Amino acid sequence: MNNIYDFIVLGAGISACTFSSFLNQRFPEASILLVEHGRRIGGRGTTRKSRKNKYIEFDHGLPSIDFSQHISQDILTLVAPLINSQKLVDISKDILLINEFGVLNNVSINYKTYRSLPFMANFCEEIINQSTNPNNINFLFQSFANSMQRANDLWNIQINNGRIIKSKNLILSSSLIAHKRCLEILKIKSLPLRNAFIPGKDKIVDELLREANKLTFIKRRIYILHVSNLKLVQSFNNQYLQIIFSDVIKEDLNLERIIFQKQLDGSMIVLLHYFYFNNLIEIDFDNIIKYLTSLFVNYRIFIDIFLQSKLIDKMDWRASQSLDHLLDKGLQWSSTSKIGFCGDWFDMDSCGGVESAMNSAIRLVKLLK
Ligand SMILES: Cc1cc2nc3c(=O)[nH]c(=O)nc-3n(C[C@H](O)[C@H](O)[C@H](O)COP(=O)(O)OP(=O)(O)OC[C@H]3O[C@@H](n4cnc5c(N)ncnc54)[C@H](O)[C@@H]3O)c2cc1C
Repeated sequence: MNNIYDFIVLGAGISACTFSSFLNQRFPEASILLVEHGRRIGGRGTTRKSRKNKYIEFDHGLPSIDFSQHISQDILTLVAPLINSQKLVDISKDILLINEFGVLNNVSINYKTYRSLPFMANFCEEIINQSTNPNNINFLFQSFANSMQRANDLWNIQINNGRIIKSKNLILSSSLIAHKRCLEILKIKSLPLRNAFIPGKDKIVDELLREANKLTFIKRRIYILHVSNLKLVQSFNNQYLQIIFSDVIKEDLNLERIIFQKQLDGSMIVLLHYFYFNNLIEIDFDNIIKYLTSLFVNYRIFIDIFLQSKLIDKMDWRASQSLDHLLDKGLQWSSTSKIGFCGDWFDMDSCGGVESAMNSAIRLVKLLK
């Protein structure tokens, strides 16, 4: 319990797991502790299990992973074994686009889209499995780091149960603690990262805090529907299907995509992704179903699915994807304070959040001496 870790990593999402696995490959003897607020690994790329029905499990966050043509050799080293063993599968053919006239088409994209099997949360688990000495990677779940102080060359991190954990280096894999939105989300009065530093003491951290404050976020609400009519689900040809809404629909109605995921008990989960920027406008769900049935009017199977579906939950991702003012990668590491940052809030010239998160984590490891 009095361990001093070489690294404490706040978060256990894709960037934190990539950082830990890649660091462990380079420095197998370094001890790492990932402190995660949630109940399991994955961050926004996580998976939900139903408490009522053990056969129901679905990806209610990140649905798929985009990798550009110029994916780095380092990412490839981590993901190639997963692709070869079919734990990461190319689902480009399972993605369609529906336009405002209700016409479904294949999507033409210049990157590849993958899904982790059996679920998205397995992606992070498999990334950790690529490490050389997994015994040195430890996890603390349902623990939120709410204050941090550096004294006598050590980081002292306080977690929500009051316990203090210590490390030589600290890595923040989420912008949450560096951005003002955490004041509202966590119902606190001042930024934990700001509290840890007297202004002027660390130029990198000062600049990072200034720049992080400019980040704006896309928020997402996922409507989770269940279709229990087994005969109907059986007549739906795809085990998994993702339909993206056209730009016109996105702009008019803030609907991003809809995902159909068959379940082990023969039922189906349907996830409707809705996005917003400032305040969420509550929409009557019956109106959403009315719109969907009118949009898919030419496709009987979808109409039946929508009409027979039951809304079972909603999931709000308030601390979601950074949109613009992404941070310069020069701010990723402060050797003065032994604090580093990674995640999809850094400008990594990548094709999506996941690739950015992974690139930033790998780059951060390479900055460590
Ligand atoms: C619904 C949805 C759809 C998406 N679609 C796409 C897509 O199509 N393409 C794409 O590229 N990306 C998409 N994304 C974004 C993608 O999921 C993220 O870019 C990626 O998962 C980022 O990983 P990360 O590790 O940087 O951050 P995160 O996954 O956010 O991980 C950070 C972790 O840190 C934890 N944490 C934060 N602060 C603390 C603290 N103080 N103490 C303890 N734990 C803490 C959080 O709980 C979280 O688990 C989507 C996201 C969502 C939610």
